[in-house]
Amino acid sequence: MTTKLPRKDVVIVGFGWTGAIMAEQLTLEGLDVLALERGLWRNTSTDYAVTNAQDEVRYRYRDELFESLSRETLTFRNTQDQTALPMRMLGSFLPGTGVGGSGVHWNGQTWRFLPSDFQARSHNEERYGGDAIPEDMTIQDWGVTYDELEPHYDTFEKICGIAGKAGNLNGRIQEGGNPFEGPRSSEYPTPPMQMVKAPMVFADAARELGYAPFPGPSANMSQAYTNPLGVQLAPCTYCGFCEKFACGNYSKATASTTILPALARRDNFSLRTGAMVLRVLHDGKQATGVEYVNEEGQVFHQPADMVILAAYITHNVHLMLHSGIGQPYDPATGQGVVGKNYAYQIVSGVSVFYDDLAVNPFIGAGALGQVIDEFNGDNFDHSGLGFIGGGYIAQWQTNGRPIESHPVPDGTPKFGLGWKQAVRDSYNHTIKVGTHGAVMSYRSNYLDLDPTYKDVYGRPLMRMTFDCKPNDIAMSRYITERATEIARAMGGREIKVSQAKVPYDIAPYQTTHNTGGTMMGATPQGSVINRYLQSWDLPNLFLMGAGAFPQNPGYNPTGTVAALAYHSAKAIREQYLRNPGPLVQA
Ligand SMILES: Cc1cc2nc3c(=O)[nH]c(=O)nc-3n(C[C@H](O)[C@H](O)[C@H](O)COP(=O)(O)OP(=O)(O)OC[C@H]3O[C@@H](n4cnc5c(N)ncnc54)[C@H](O)[C@@H]3O)c2cc1C
Ligand code: SF4
Repeated sequence: MTTKLPRKDVVIVGFGWTGAIMAEQLTLEGLDVLALERGLWRNTSTDYAVTNAQDEVRYRYRDELFESLSRETLTFRNTQDQTALPMRMLGSFLPGTGVGGSGVHWNGQTWRFLPSDFQARSHNEERYGGDAIPEDMTIQDWGVTYDELEPHYDTFEKICGIAGKAGNLNGRIQEGGNPFEGPRSSEYPTPPMQMVKAPMVFADAARELGYAPFPGPSANMSQAYTNPLGVQLAPCTYCGFCEKFACGNYSKATASTTILPALARRDNFSLRTGAMVLRVLHDGKQATGVEYVNEEGQVFHQPADMVILAAYITHNVHLMLHSGIGQPYDPATGQGVVGKNYAYQIVSGVSVFYDDLAVNPFIGAGALGQVIDEFNGDNFDHSGLGFIGGGYIAQWQTNGRPIESHPVPDGTPKFGLGWKQAVRDSYNHTIKVGTHGAVMSYRSNYLDLDPTYKDVYGRPLMRMTFDCKPNDIAMSRYITERATEIARAMGGREIKVSQAKVPYDIAPYQTTHNTGGTMMGATPQGSVINRYLQSWDLPNLFLMGAGAFPQNPGYNPTGTVAALAYHSAKAIREQYLRNPGPLVQA
């Protein structure tokens, strides 16, 4: 039996970064906003107390903060001629569940995309000619520009207290920052993190080779900070249990530590946990609400005037497909848009082993590092290289956690005395340089509903069909060569190069940077949502998250995910509420 609940002005599905941003912005308009979160309520001070937050077995290996695949998962295959099988263990990506979403256990590397990233097709065609884009590459312009998003990047950075050094202030290049970034209207709200040995060795070598290293923008606090909502954050202790862990120290910007305390004081906001939304209800013209099930198995119909999907890209796409909203993408014809242009990222690394240099890897933080951006996006001339796109090269000192972190040189035995000796020799004497690269979108990489497997609620699982393509492999090999040159200049005894694994393997952790499937764009034929993240099909439905990205640039996504949410919220507040309906005429 389904219980029908009293109507709300706005229902938000999921309470991670984007759910919190939309709730904060829309409650300012006096709207009655309800967020439905499938996972648990958690308190930073008690659930993530520093006495237990650093339990590697509990959090990293028993997945306490991550979504549970026993209730819903996805099926995976590399190519259409394979049979997709259910992902039964989390691996390549680790989406969160519970209040705060994936942002609870993110690193906090908080980027702005390059201006040219937003014009991926027109920019590359203009600079390199139409032939530079292979026929099966389905990249497109976003329908929004860097300049339009700049104020919203700025807002998010101030909400989080991002630590960094501007490289381009109002068009003037700044010493010590990223000279390739788009113009920013203000300096980062807090100074860069204190650098430790490893990133400094990387930065010195990069500088010697003529590059311009800069401190990575960090949502780990370099100093105490009070954000514009009046919420306080404490200085980071460089504990090294950051990525994949929650911060009990109030030193990592998350939805729970930066926005929720302000929302909790607003009477027109409510949050229901243990509320798993199964589908969006609609009459073909408008969303009418959502259907959700609670932990006791009771089913509820929650009517609402506006529905916002903020459930992370994979779940947003699944909800769209399962709710029958929009035309599902068909790779055979190229028609349809829901599920189209799914993309991931491509990473590689080069480890440098030293005899004597001590790096103390246990001192670390999720976004503590030095970066170069010379080979990201279109910051370099791609003529004759045979690929477009790029990525950044960085030395992040994130952790030396005892179970996860045991770098060893090539040729080391896989177990036994030889392995133990190598771990002993290398643990304190290894620096890893990483590359973090773009993945373009392609006709044959997509998301749809699986014909065979169902979740515990009886819904077809979402099926992911994805593999790396020649453009992105060539790009990754190229930037890995550049990273190797820097690694050689870092003066170690030997190096080990770990190339991106091809074909793509969903088992080992890489990044939780999935994109596409509900992409934004200029027309309903070519996108699921318009430039304000509004559904072309149901104008009172808005879709947050990296599903909006038409392809995946070289940076981590959350700065842009948040900027897009603020951009959408502004349009809802200033235009939609006065005149509900499509914000862009098709
Ligand atoms: C280990 C890790 C490290 C990362 N590091 C970085 C980084 O350094 N920099 C960066 O830019 N990004 C990073 N990310 C990515 C970042 O966390 C995400 O981009 C960001 O959290 C996305 O925000 P979101 O609101 O779209 O989704 P989420 O934060 O995932 O929130 C979605 C919420 O929706 C809930 N939900 C899902 N389905 C339903 C449903 N059907 N009903 C009700 N609720 C539902 C989920 O439980 C979750 O709480 C990292 C991610 C991980 C996992
Ligand atoms: S490294 Fe800093 S921000 Fe990250 S969990 Fe530890 S104290 Fe918190």
